[in-house]
Amino acid sequence: MFSFTYQFSRQVLGGWIFVIVIGSLSIWLANYWLGASTALELRKTSRERLSLYEATLLGELDKYRYLPFVLSGNEDVKELLTTFQDDTYFANKVSQSLAETNNKAEANVLYIMDKKGNTLASSNWQDETSFVGHNYSFRPYFQDAIEGREGRFFAIGTISGIPGFFMSHPVYEDSSIIGAAVVKVNLTPLQQQWNDGGENVFITDGNGVIFLASKKDWLYKSLRPIPSKQLQKLHQIRQYGASNFDILGTNHVSVAGDLATEIEGNRYLETKQDIANTDWKIHYLVSVSPITENQRTIVAIGIGVIVTLLVLALFIRERRQKVISTRRALEAEKMENMNRQLEIEIEERRRTEKELRAAQDGLVQAGKLAALGQMSAAIAYEINQPIAAIQNDVSNCVTYLKDENDQELNSSLTEISSLTEKMGMITAQLKNFARKSSMKIRPIDVVKAINRAGHLMQPVFNAQTVHLEIRTTPEAMLISGDEIRLEQVFVNLYRNAVDAMKFIKDEKIISINASVIDNQVNVTVSDTGTGLEDHVLNKLYDPFFTTKSNSESLGLGLSITYGIIKDLKGEIQASNNPDGGACFVLSFPRYIEK
Ligand code: ADP
Repeated sequence: MFSFTYQFSRQVLGGWIFVIVIGSLSIWLANYWLGASTALELRKTSRERLSLYEATLLGELDKYRYLPFVLSGNEDVKELLTTFQDDTYFANKVSQSLAETNNKAEANVLYIMDKKGNTLASSNWQDETSFVGHNYSFRPYFQDAIEGREGRFFAIGTISGIPGFFMSHPVYEDSSIIGAAVVKVNLTPLQQQWNDGGENVFITDGNGVIFLASKKDWLYKSLRPIPSKQLQKLHQIRQYGASNFDILGTNHVSVAGDLATEIEGNRYLETKQDIANTDWKIHYLVSVSPITENQRTIVAIGIGVIVTLLVLALFIRERRQKVISTRRALEAEKMENMNRQLEIEIEERRRTEKELRAAQDGLVQAGKLAALGQMSAAIAYEINQPIAAIQNDVSNCVTYLKDENDQELNSSLTEISSLTEKMGMITAQLKNFARKSSMKIRPIDVVKAINRAGHLMQPVFNAQTVHLEIRTTPEAMLISGDEIRLEQVFVNLYRNAVDAMKFIKDEKIISINASVIDNQVNVTVSDTGTGLEDHVLNKLYDPFFTTKSNSESLGLGLSITYGIIKDLKGEIQASNNPDGGACFVLSFPRYIEK
């Protein structure tokens, strides 16, 4: 078994509704078609059966039709009606002869009536229900005969109570009518045959009264109300004894496109037809149950097919769903493994980054020391000069003291003070440079860092006759960071620029342009040096990449610079100026006070 945990998507639901609608429509069509064709088939069979029943009825009646005629020509009969009307012996002889004929013919009763309607002789003369002595002048078949016609009449026997079909013929003496010869045919066996066949057949007379029926319950019921005049006549001729002529209620209902007759709660297809030479109608009823049964079967099959299809579809969907979920579970597991792998790699990368950062910090320090070494000659030169001047001034001061030349003494002391101050400044900057940054993040002024780096490098600029030109726009250029590290950036760039311009004959200029654009502080550091070759541009920021042959050049300057700029969330880009020399463009996010 499988569970119906399946989620209906709109498309799937649409598909199912389509199947159900088409399926229902097909069932409805099949149902209608089968019902209609079964009804047609039943109608066809009904007509055949009806013709058959009519033929057997007429055959049964025709069998005895000749008897009254034959009897009417019998000489004994004529003598009975003329000469021996009151001769019981003769009458009994005729009755006996009628009984013998009846035995052979197997009719019900043969009898002879005089012209007043009295029965003189009868085949049943010895029975308790003998007709002899009874007057039947009220019966229409007698009146027909006495008026010279053949009489035909269906009625219930007034004495026997047995229903029968009466056929009469006038008895002539010369050309005058002297009486009537009558045969009564018992149609009860025919009725019984119909009943045994399990079929619903009945015959109605001109008033709509059922006088022959396979169903005894329906006998002497009328299909429609009988007008009172007719009713009066029926009682008068005692056609159906004391019958009340209850109405057999019928309704017409539509079944499978046909019109069915509903009697006592059962539905039938009714086929009827007039019986020739009578005002009778024969009715054949067939139950509609084959139609409804066929329809029920086709609906059951249809529903069965649809349900099977739906269950099959569900089953297939469920299976597919299972395959999909298994695949998803596998994919999820794979993803999880990948995730785990990724986490391990991220962790690894973090660790490496930490190590690199530690290494970089070390390199920053190393880079500073290298720069310090390179600068030391120039610094020594810068410091030696003031010391020599101070020595000179001190010996002059001794002389001025002796000579009490206060004015010159004062001037020399001022000179000494100024020289000492200059030396202090150089050592202070060196100290500042050599110190390892604590990387305290706070708002720092980019212009200040540019200037301080310039001060720091001033001795080198002087030694190499380099001019530093700084151009800035008036707005505050604050960024978040550590000022010592930012100074380091500019020192490195100045140092490289100085190196690049070492053998340049033309003017050696380092141009600085600082400005603010769109909350970015941009600084270009441009020189008039040799510029950057393509192969250098590609490796510019690689640690230990250097084109310089001197021992102080470690190839760390730009690598450290790059690291610091990244720490300050900034960018650096190198290019060449159109008229020669390198150009570095730096940009940092501007610090905005909140
Ligand atoms: P180093 O100065 O020790 O060589 P750097 O990382 O500072 O190390 O510089 C790497 C290389 O980039 C230098 O060797 C030089 O070839 C080139 N370079 C850097 N700045 C400039 C510049 N302003 N002009 C020309 N070349 C430069």
